[in-house]
Amino acid sequence: MRPFVYESASSAQQAATRGGTDSAFIAGGTTIIDLMKLEVMKPSRLVDLNPLQMRGIEMGEDGLRIGALEKMSAVAAHPDVVANYPVISEALFKSASAQIRNMASIGGNLLQRTRCGYFRDVTTPCNKREPGSGCPAIDGENRMHAILGTSSSCVATHPSDLAVALVALDASVRLQNGADVRLIELDDFYLLPGDTPDDENQLRPGELITEVCVPRLPWARRSTYLKIRDRESYEFALTSAAVALDIDGDKIRDIRIAVGGGQSEGASSGETVPLLQDRKILNYGQIIGLVVADSFEQARDAAALVRTQCQVEDPVASWDKGMEFSFTPPAVGEDQAITKILAEGVQSIDDAIKGCPVVMDATYTEPIYHHNPMEPHATTAVWHGDRLTIYDATQGVVSQRLDVAAVLGIDEDMVRVLCPFVGGGFGCKGSMWMFSPLTAAAARALNRPVKTILTREQMFTLVGHRPALIQHLTLGASADGTLQAVKHDVRSTVSFSKMFIEAAAHRTSRLLYKSPNIQVSQTLVPWDVGGPTFMRAPGCAPGMFALECAMDELATKSGIDPVELRIKNNADVYPGRNVPWSSKNLVECYQLGAEKFGWSKRKSEPGVVKDGDWLIGMGMASALYPAHRNRASAKIRLQADGTAQVSSATQDLGTGTWTVLAIVGADSLELPIEKIRTELGDSALPPAPTSGGSTSVASVTPAIQRAAESAKKKLIQLSIRDKKSPFFGMNDVVYKSGEITGGGKSADFGSVLSAIGRSAVEAVEMAAPGEEEEKYAFHSFGAQFCELQVNRWTAEIRLQRITSVMDIGTVVNLKTARSQIIGGIVFGIGMALLEGSVLEEKTGRYANANFADYLVATNADVPDVDVHFINKPDTIFNPLGARGIGEIGITGMPAAIANAVYNATGRRVRDFPILPEKLLPVAPNQPVISMSGNQGSRSTLSW
Ligand code: SF4
Repeated sequence: MRPFVYESASSAQQAATRGGTDSAFIAGGTTIIDLMKLEVMKPSRLVDLNPLQMRGIEMGEDGLRIGALEKMSAVAAHPDVVANYPVISEALFKSASAQIRNMASIGGNLLQRTRCGYFRDVTTPCNKREPGSGCPAIDGENRMHAILGTSSSCVATHPSDLAVALVALDASVRLQNGADVRLIELDDFYLLPGDTPDDENQLRPGELITEVCVPRLPWARRSTYLKIRDRESYEFALTSAAVALDIDGDKIRDIRIAVGGGQSEGASSGETVPLLQDRKILNYGQIIGLVVADSFEQARDAAALVRTQCQVEDPVASWDKGMEFSFTPPAVGEDQAITKILAEGVQSIDDAIKGCPVVMDATYTEPIYHHNPMEPHATTAVWHGDRLTIYDATQGVVSQRLDVAAVLGIDEDMVRVLCPFVGGGFGCKGSMWMFSPLTAAAARALNRPVKTILTREQMFTLVGHRPALIQHLTLGASADGTLQAVKHDVRSTVSFSKMFIEAAAHRTSRLLYKSPNIQVSQTLVPWDVGGPTFMRAPGCAPGMFALECAMDELATKSGIDPVELRIKNNADVYPGRNVPWSSKNLVECYQLGAEKFGWSKRKSEPGVVKDGDWLIGMGMASALYPAHRNRASAKIRLQADGTAQVSSATQDLGTGTWTVLAIVGADSLELPIEKIRTELGDSALPPAPTSGGSTSVASVTPAIQRAAESAKKKLIQLSIRDKKSPFFGMNDVVYKSGEITGGGKSADFGSVLSAIGRSAVEAVEMAAPGEEEEKYAFHSFGAQFCELQVNRWTAEIRLQRITSVMDIGTVVNLKTARSQIIGGIVFGIGMALLEGSVLEEKTGRYANANFADYLVATNADVPDVDVHFINKPDTIFNPLGARGIGEIGITGMPAAIANAVYNATGRRVRDFPILPEKLLPVAPNQPVISMSGNQGSRSTLSW
């Protein structure tokens, strides 16, 4: 943010003298501070209006008067407003979030700036921000833009809901400029963009809105505000309408309608190419320099002053262009890129399909998704001589140490990475990204600590994403629904600069259902974007979207219940390898889930269950994720103060690893959990794998158990051998529940250690998978059900309830396990209904790289979630019997939602996310206004 002078005004006259072209007023500050941080607005003086007396909500003879400094929440809840002008109250309650409503003023709300993403991104042209620079929205990302009142210079909407309600009620604003006061109707206050979109309203320099006046309209009591939006809370309108009716008996005497939203006024390194090594810019957003300063604001300001020149080339940023460079990877995991399992005598998968009485064939598409944890990536690098300490936001302290050392060309023993807590990761923090070693290099060059924190916008370009996919599925079945052929072809995007395979078919259709003929394939389609990477349930989340929607479509075609169809095709052994599962209770998941959810109440005929204007639908899908464990080490330290330390260089992403370490340590040592101290997130601790692929608990807990046994043995040996020990020379000494017993005596281990003068005894052990890997297949399974409603007019989708049953082996901690599943479900809701990065084909730039335009689910979008576990230990997998749990929660949810949408409406949407416009018209013959809009990379390509 640029430096500015802050002043407060004690009167409207004083504000007028201090206001001017280079000044801005601040009230709640919820818009202007954001815009100043982004350098969209750069006032040299900020005049605080809060000391002014522009307050009060009064109902008088002439109508309602609202002081401009009143908070949105106060006006929305005021009894006079609720009783006499419900449209105002509703419009305000549907605006922003509760936090913003508590801060933002009424006047500020009416003067807020457009949400156009280009306006807020100073790296792009924008006529509203920089007159004459152009309007990229016209040919770019404009789904949320205006269709009425636009010009060839600007197509932005005005974001205020309140303004729409007030225009419907013929409201006016009182303006004051020093001693001059004027009243102007709100409808006239706002200006259409014309050739000067930077000129948004009638305010003159120094002029303020002091109050809002709404005329007395007794019939305004019969008014309402409808807001159509992608998600239920904290979201701007796709379109909205404020309606007030003057009704006399059965006649409408007068009607007021204002429309808003649609018109102008109203594990390997994440990156493989080291930075700053040449002059080539590979993709939009790539780091081309690092500016270091004493404060974040100074650094950002200095970076904005850097002027660059480059020769621009047309990017490859669409399926059509990318296909020219597409290729088949050499392998997908342990399988070939085209993997075929064919029954004896069958020549090809297509031959097998041809012979099937029921065939389902469909193509499913999805955009690029970005991880978006609340905590952005950050690195602080500190050198002590040749030794480097990095405080990082990473899912792998050990792998981060290795990768940073490799890029810097130093010994990994000279690097220590610390990360005791991770504020969310979802896969993007599972790899090293080049800004980390760059930060370390800057710290070395400057001989002082350097901290780099990525902005939200940079989270879209510098730390990976889930590739976009086109999946083509063909299922062939007998008349009774028994699968005879499964063909699943995947095209996934990749970067020209980094290989990554989103193995959507190989991780799902390859193995989930029993079929004599299975073929899966993968084609990679390069785009000019930053490197893709693992994102929660890589391969499985997108693959299960396609496979489980296809199974639902097959169920419809075959006239078989979707649960029954899945039970019928349950795979008892791993298809094609014929090895048994270490533990599989998927049929139990279906049955328990159906019972808990009330699946028997579902009507198979779509569109028949209604509640007023809402169509109700139920859907379900299987959930699936592989169970992996890796080599991991842990240390147990029994201490003289009677406590025990459990340590491992693992990580906690908010997944509960701290808790699990304590629980497993306490169980292994038979101690109360209060006696356990835990350490993690430090590369100096015994090495553990990166927390990804749902492997941490499965990998680290066997090492803890082994270390506990070793530590107990060492303690017993010391007790017997040390002359100062009360158990010296005895041969019947054992450890039990924190006590040493022998020779008829017992003492807690702390006092024994104290007696022999030792502060502690410790053991480090490693555990790794063994030959069971060859003999069994390891997977977690589940069944997910949901009920939702779809508005028959607006196509808004609102989830009502969700049931999940998971077979993940032993549940180590019910609370954190449930929380993990709910987290995955929330991710699945976003994937199905809200999220999706919009890549501009002309520039290779993400047009919605911020939290306002890239929507993640809010609390209001997440209904009651009922989670159950089968809780049968999988002791073939590891001694604790626990498989991973971090990712399976997302895998069935997107398809369950899509299937429920079909059940509610009879409409199959195979292109994620399921936005309202893709469902319109919801009912046949229903009138619909078609809206212009560029769908960017969301457009589907037929197979
Ligand atoms: Fe700027 Fe308006 Fe164009 Fe958006 S629509 S880029 S605000 S000129």
